[in-house]
Amino acid sequence: MNCIFCDIIKNEDHDGMIYSDPEVVSFLDIRPLNLGHTLVVPVEHHTDFREMPPESMQHFFAKVQQIALAVEKATGADGFNIICNTGEAASQTIFHLHYHIIPRFRGDNVFRRLEFKQYNSETEMRSFAEKIKKHL
Ligand code: 5GP
Ligand code: ZN
Repeated sequence: MNCIFCDIIKNEDHDGMIYSDPEVVSFLDIRPLNLGHTLVVPVEHHTDFREMPPESMQHFFAKVQQIALAVEKATGADGFNIICNTGEAASQTIFHLHYHIIPRFRGDNVFRRLEFKQYNSETEMRSFAEKIKKHL
């Protein structure tokens, strides 16, 4: 299978490599939204978050947190976004599951074009919550 992230995982000398263990690797994003923008990736190939085995989450998210704190300290950021684009409609472009850690600085305007939607009524909001609860 042709997968850029599987190739990076096999290549221990990758320029931006930050962390690796038998289950998780982390490296710098080649097109950073801010310098220090980091990806955290499971070694095992899963297309996206929908396919992530629950039993691998504990270790994976412990590493996401540890690496996010390191990115924040190293860059002197004021905070960070943790993002997992899931599916083409959500702007996923590499179909090997990964989390973005994006260091953020006050006023950096990285996501300045976000447009918020609005629920038309409390009833509509409640009905969304009920629909989601049914699928849990
Ligand atoms: P997605 O849009 O799928 O959530 O994010 C994929 C990310 O992978 C993008 O931010 C993109 O810049 C990054 N990326 C794509 N190809 C490479 C690569 O070859 N090396 C590295 N380090 N990052 C890559
Ligand atoms: Zn892969």
